[in-house]
Amino acid sequence: MTMTIQDPRELDDDTLLTVTRALVVRDNDNEADLLEVLAEVDERRLYLPDHTSMFAFCTAELGFSEAVAENRITVARAGRRFPRVVAMRRSGAIHLSGLRLLSPHLTDDSADRLLSQATHKSKRQIEEIVACHAPKPPVADSIRKVPERRVAEPVAAEPGPLFDAPRPTAPAAPPPPPPAVVAPLAPERYHVQLTASRELRDQIEQATALLRHRVPNGDLATIFGLALGLLIDKVKKERFGVGRRPRSSKLPEGPAKGRDIPDAIKRAVYERDGGQCTFVGPNGSRCPERGFIELDHLDGFARRHEHVASRITLRCRAHNGYAAEVMYGPELMARKRRSAQAAQDARPRAPRRRDGEAGHQSPVRPVARAVGQDRSRPRASVPPGQLAPTAQGAFVPQSLATAPEPDSPSRGDLEARP
Ligand SMILES: [Zn+2]
Repeated sequence: MTMTIQDPRELDDDTLLTVTRALVVRDNDNEADLLEVLAEVDERRLYLPDHTSMFAFCTAELGFSEAVAENRITVARAGRRFPRVVAMRRSGAIHLSGLRLLSPHLTDDSADRLLSQATHKSKRQIEEIVACHAPKPPVADSIRKVPERRVAEPVAAEPGPLFDAPRPTAPAAPPPPPPAVVAPLAPERYHVQLTASRELRDQIEQATALLRHRVPNGDLATIFGLALGLLIDKVKKERFGVGRRPRSSKLPEGPAKGRDIPDAIKRAVYERDGGQCTFVGPNGSRCPERGFIELDHLDGFARRHEHVASRITLRCRAHNGYAAEVMYGPELMARKRRSAQAAQDARPRAPRRRDGEAGHQSPVRPVARAVGQDRSRPRASVPPGQLAPTAQGAFVPQSLATAPEPDSPSRGDLEARP
């Protein structure tokens, strides 16, 4: 059975989301069916004689990647023993990766509990559940040299026809180092693994030596903990004024002297909002983002020209950009993104920012990255209810009014948006 889908570019926003959700339901259903038939093929050993194993059948004949084959076979076998596994995949309650993590730990005693705990959890959260259920021993500190990666020999250009374009002869770039690992071993215990440069290795040795009087056994976790504690304090101080000695206990008020938010207000907002984006989605849950955090004037600095702690909030870049689109419309924001991109391209290197106002000084580039698409097409509608109560119709990025383009809509136009 096939579902005929109109060209997604032709769909309005609501229909596009409806179609996406319907496809996910269908995909879950398909995968659950697939798990059931794979389990049956496995049971009957139908992979023979062409293949020697279920894994070979899945990769060579069915075209699964090795990882997907391993996941599906493991989960299919667990599903044969515990039918709830397949039911949870079918309902979308647990993704395949999560079921793969749980499968080796499912027993008559544990299956129901583990599956319930893992419902609608991320892979990382399920790793925590497994670590809690079956703790692993701690890992010893180790620093070892990773074998040199051989860079591919440059390939000599074959002689081509006269006047042909020259062929590239640059050597292939070496593959990137393996990604860092932060895996739970047991409750409150993690295995952290990373590939370090020689410089970092030297820094670790230097810190270990300098701290010998405080950390005589040179425990790496203790040393990294001390180092990160200092770094976090330093960055919080730089970006949000946290930890600076206040000149007075009273927060500054009145007309702003400039666009820089006073440290006392940055600190108060950061601490009040707990360093986390305050956006509340339509489902009522608060955005968990703590990275790319920016300070937003709810009433727009350009309109009020004042910094008042109760009207400034923390937002992640994505929600900062989203709020701007809701207020100003996608066309204006797309134009802002294009002009910021052009300005960025004209500049060899952007100056480093030091404070928490990243989004205000250049709000448009982050928006482009965070939204991740050109929203120049008109959206069907953006219900105002999708903004948090604190943010209702109250977001004005600085650049829109401080440096308006000649063809920018008037402030009245901007404020007429929901
Ligand atoms: Zn957010």
